[in-house]
Amino acid sequence: MKELDWSSLGFGYMKTDYNVRCYFKDGKWGELETTTSETINLHMAATCLHYGQEAFEGLKAFRGKDGKIRIFRMEENALRLQHSCRGILMEELPVEKFKEAVMKVVKLNEYFVPPYGSGSSLYIRPLLIGTGAQIGVRPANEYLFLVLVTPVGPYFKEGFKTTPVVILRKYDRAAPLGTGTIKVGGNYAASLVPGAKAHEMGYSAVLYLDAREKRYVDECGPANFFGIKNNTYITPESTSILPSITNKSLIQLAESMGMTVERRQIPVEELSSFEEAGMCGTAAVISPISRIDDMDENKSYIYSEDGKPGKICEKLYNKLQGIQYGDEPDSFGWVTILE
Ligand SMILES: *Cc1c(COP(=O)(O)O)cnc(C)c1O
Repeated sequence: MKELDWSSLGFGYMKTDYNVRCYFKDGKWGELETTTSETINLHMAATCLHYGQEAFEGLKAFRGKDGKIRIFRMEENALRLQHSCRGILMEELPVEKFKEAVMKVVKLNEYFVPPYGSGSSLYIRPLLIGTGAQIGVRPANEYLFLVLVTPVGPYFKEGFKTTPVVILRKYDRAAPLGTGTIKVGGNYAASLVPGAKAHEMGYSAVLYLDAREKRYVDECGPANFFGIKNNTYITPESTSILPSITNKSLIQLAESMGMTVERRQIPVEELSSFEEAGMCGTAAVISPISRIDDMDENKSYIYSEDGKPGKICEKLYNKLQGIQYGDEPDSFGWVTILE
């Protein structure tokens, strides 16, 4: 097989050799199956197509200087998938089965884990869907869990840098007591229009406000928001935010670096007092924010004029990436080394 140009990869789908699947049928999950097929054979009345019984996960595997492959916090993803399943009445997949499937698919596609130093990694996408046929609005009685992988390039191709985001009050991604805390496709469908608007205007994401009052900062595109001031890491408390594993990790790192952590409501006006701001998630780890333009109020909050990220964003980013690639000791037990 010809050598891939690992450092020029984007964040797109590239075919790999195998994916792993598991079916829920007759009241139980079956054995893991391996396939080379990129397609699934689906009943036209499957609930995932009609009633949105679909949840997914996203995590990464990294190759270290020692050549070993490290998978980051997969147990957290397994638990979050179960939480998503409970949210839309799908069969929960046992944590052990999830971990087994992830390790298996990475091992089978070992060739596609990019080399250390390329800045690239292997993106792992678990997916769970209702496959049983149903016309009445009811949960399916059959499910498919699958895990696909695809190598992805460095998120910051020209180095770690800031991007602008925008507040657009005309849109919500999730309702206060809706599906915002679970990782389901429906939330993403709702974010496509505002996301496209933001991109058209040159922003990297929409900073959503709480849907009820439009007073507090909520989710930031497909990522969690955080602000930094007075050596404090502040991230929104909300019933419509997806609990990011990256955010959870950054919180632990910030505490270990002697910072104070606050998880609470963030009023929009408080944005003017932050020294740094960023979004976080598996894709970028941290994507620092240069400015937040509040389109409706004609106001801007500026964190960086020259595109350079703030010191604390940079420190947190380097620390987390260091652990993921195995350059820093795994003091929190976040990494599974693939044997
Ligand atoms: C997946 C996701 C995140 C980030 O979660 P990580 O576990 O850090 O990757 C944040 N917000 C939304 C809406 C998401 O779907």
